[in-house]
Amino acid sequence: MRMKAAVLYGTRQPLVVEEVELDPPQTGEVLVKMVATGICHSDLHRYTGDAQSQLFPIVLGHEGAGIVQEVGEGVTRFKPGDHVVLTFLPSCGKCRWCHIGHPNKCDLGAHLRDGKMLDGTTRIHGSDGSDIYNFLFNSTFAEYSVAPEASLVPVPEHVPLEKVCLFGCGFTTGFGTATNKLNIRPGETVTIVGCGGLGLAATQGANISGAGKIIAVDIHPEKLEMAKKFGATHTVQNKHNVDEVIEQIMDITWGLGTDYSMEFVGFDQSDETLDIAFKAIRKGGTMCMIGVGAHDKRTLPIDPFTLTIYRKKITGVLFGESQFQTDIPRYVSLFEQGQINLDDMITRELSLEQINEGFEAVLAGNKVARQVIRYG
Ligand SMILES: [Zn+2]
Ligand SMILES: [Zn+2]
Repeated sequence: MRMKAAVLYGTRQPLVVEEVELDPPQTGEVLVKMVATGICHSDLHRYTGDAQSQLFPIVLGHEGAGIVQEVGEGVTRFKPGDHVVLTFLPSCGKCRWCHIGHPNKCDLGAHLRDGKMLDGTTRIHGSDGSDIYNFLFNSTFAEYSVAPEASLVPVPEHVPLEKVCLFGCGFTTGFGTATNKLNIRPGETVTIVGCGGLGLAATQGANISGAGKIIAVDIHPEKLEMAKKFGATHTVQNKHNVDEVIEQIMDITWGLGTDYSMEFVGFDQSDETLDIAFKAIRKGGTMCMIGVGAHDKRTLPIDPFTLTIYRKKITGVLFGESQFQTDIPRYVSLFEQGQINLDDMITRELSLEQINEGFEAVLAGNKVARQVIRYG
C-alpha cells in the first residue's frame, strides 16, 4: 500500500515527507494505522549522526500508538480494531529473559539496530522499489507501521492514543526507573539530572512513590520550572560548575547527598552531568545511567577511591526495567485517575509535515518536554 512517511536520507539532512510503499504484515507482524507518535531524543541521535549508524534511507519514530488494521499469519493476540501502543523494545514472552521477568532484555533486542524486521527483510520501499530501513521495528514517522506482535501492547479503546503513545518509550523509561528499578520508598531522596521528557517522567515516578526530596538539575531554567510542575521539591540550575551544584544538593540534604540519582542526559552527556550524578549520592547510594551515551565513549569521570570507600553503586537502566505488557496498562489506569500527568508533558502537537520543526525544537533543548505528531 502507499502511505506518507518522513524519510531520513542522511545525517543532518532535512526529513523528506513523501509517498512510500509499505508491504503487508508477514508472519508474526501487525499493520497499525498510526494515530500519534512522540518525538524522542533517540530519533535525533540518528539524525545528528551521534548513533554512528549509516543505515539510510530510514524512517525513524518509536513512541507511537494506533489502531490495528490487519494481522499476519500466526498473530494471536491482536485483531483489526484493537488499540495499541508500540514499544521500542519487543518481548517474545518465550526467551530466558522474558521468562524471568526481564522483557527489556529479550533476545529479540539483538536485532534492534539492524534496520530490518525480525526475518531480516524490510517492509518499507521507495517508489523505485528500493529498501528503506526500519527503526526499532517501529518506524512510526509514517501513516502506517508494520510491527512485530511482540512490540505491541493493547490499551482500552476509550484511552486517548495521542497521550498514551508516550508510554512506548520516554515516559515508561523515566517513570519505571524511579518506581521499578529504584523502588523509591516514602521519604527517600533523589537527584534527577536532565529534565527533558524522561527526567520529568522520573520526577512524576519519584513523586508518586512519596520521595521526600526530589532535586531537579538542568542547565535550562525553563526545564526546572517544568520539573516543579511534576513534583520536584527543589531545583538547581547547573551553570557548568559541578562544585556549586553539589554544594546546593548537600545543603538541601543536610550534608548527606541523596539516596539515588538518575542521569538522563544521554548523548549530550558530558563528564559534568555524570560527575554531578555520582557526587550527588550519599554513602551506599545508587546512581542510574539512563540516557544512552556515545558509542565511542570509554571512560566515566568516577573517582574509584570514593566508589569503594563510600560503597556507591552505578547501574545502567533500560526502558525503566519495565514489564511493559503489564506496566503500560497500570500507567493507563494511573493516567485515567489523574495520578500521571501526560497533558503537561506534551508541549505541542505537530503534523507529519512539521517534523523538521519538531527536530529543531528538540535540538534547541530548552523549549520542549515532548512533542507529539498527530496523524489526520
Ligand atoms: Zn525513545
Ligand atoms: Zn523474549
